[in-house]
Amino acid sequence: MKPLVKALGVGLVAAGIGVFVGQQFAPKPKPIPAEPLGKLQYGNEQFVKGALTPPKVDEMTRYTLETEGQHPFAVVVACSDSRTPPELIFNQGLGALFVVRVAGNIVNEENLASIEYAVEHLKTPLIVVLGHTHCGAVKATVAGKPLEGHLPHLVAHIEPVVQSLHRTHPHLKGDALVERVIQENVRHTIRAILERSALVRKQYEAGKVQFAGGVYHLREGKVEWLKLPEGMESAAHEKSPAHESSHGEH
Ligand SMILES: [Zn+2]
Repeated sequence: MKPLVKALGVGLVAAGIGVFVGQQFAPKPKPIPAEPLGKLQYGNEQFVKGALTPPKVDEMTRYTLETEGQHPFAVVVACSDSRTPPELIFNQGLGALFVVRVAGNIVNEENLASIEYAVEHLKTPLIVVLGHTHCGAVKATVAGKPLEGHLPHLVAHIEPVVQSLHRTHPHLKGDALVERVIQENVRHTIRAILERSALVRKQYEAGKVQFAGGVYHLREGKVEWLKLPEGMESAAHEKSPAHESSHGEH
């Protein structure tokens, strides 16, 4: 037993030094940005590093959310894909994100109603549309093969994006086309929200709600922020260099 006790003692001393060193010399963590998009970008950085902070899911948080109600700081319109849960990607706990998920991150009447509820009643100040690489809904639309059940209803939302790219970028094929459709589909959904919802449009024009569009990269874990459709100011524009990826265009 003695060597074990001794080993434990050395271990505890070492741990103590570790704590001491940690307290004295560790660089101060970056402050978490206060504005909605900054919080998402910060959360995604933590996710990419594998340094997730424990999400706020404790009893006190649940009690507060029940008694005081929810005040989510962002609506996230994301794909249903099991690899793209917004709460994990952005390192957020309960009550933070109002998530609308449907394969292909498209909007229909019911999704628009959900977004309107968040913007109008919960005063959520940011709408993020989040696509992702290797999206099955986009791949199926690009492939253009006959689909069964309700799937044709879904791809019908993405088909105009593919047709438009066939006209403007006829050289795009295969993976390069899929990648570009994923980006354009994010912009298409943003436009659809603004065009089809007078309520969201009014809040956007009044400066009460902002938009951002991103593509989540499955392997890297990183969200690439996109330029928004022409004439629209992205919430991501000032904080990070939003850019349009041109991979595979040549
Ligand atoms: Zn998808």
